[in-house]
Amino acid sequence: MTSIDFPLLNRRTQNSVISTTPNELSNWTRLSSLWPLLYGTSCCFIEFASLIGSRFDFDRYGLVPRSSPRQADLILTAGTVTMKMAPSLVRLYEQMPEPKYVIAMGACTITGGMFSTDSYSTVRGVDKLIPVDVYLPGCPPKPEAVIEAITKLRKKISREIYADRIRSHRTNRSFTTNHK
Ligand code: SF4
Repeated sequence: MTSIDFPLLNRRTQNSVISTTPNELSNWTRLSSLWPLLYGTSCCFIEFASLIGSRFDFDRYGLVPRSSPRQADLILTAGTVTMKMAPSLVRLYEQMPEPKYVIAMGACTITGGMFSTDSYSTVRGVDKLIPVDVYLPGCPPKPEAVIEAITKLRKKISREIYADRIRSHRTNRSFTTNHK
């Protein structure tokens, strides 16, 4: 994983005192301990699950999978989202505390994938339900690609202004409730 640049956090004085800003420190703590909600609806989740094992060991990035949305600040929508499942996904997302992030994993979750033309029961793009931060295409994306998507998200968080993030999600709340 490439390093994430924090100009202020990395500025050290001769006595090794680190200076930073509250916003940058907040960003650093959040990107260093993203806790993903265990959410998988079909085959893409198998690739996601392999990240938890010792081969990819994604805990080393501070990612600790959670079973409760109350304890999670990241959701990877791994797999097909059906119309029947859509209200549950929106509810799970709304139960996660702010600030929270979404990675759309795989063709099915991004566009409907192979179900995008003929199926009456599949959501054609999870971003119609919840706001997506990083799109991760593939069928399925490899575990290495998931790690790359998480790196992209971490970089995005490192540049965030915390107050702006919260404000934009207050605006998006109407976005999710409109699609229940
Ligand atoms: Fe399965 Fe491919 Fe759809 Fe992922 S994108 S859920 S691997 S069919």
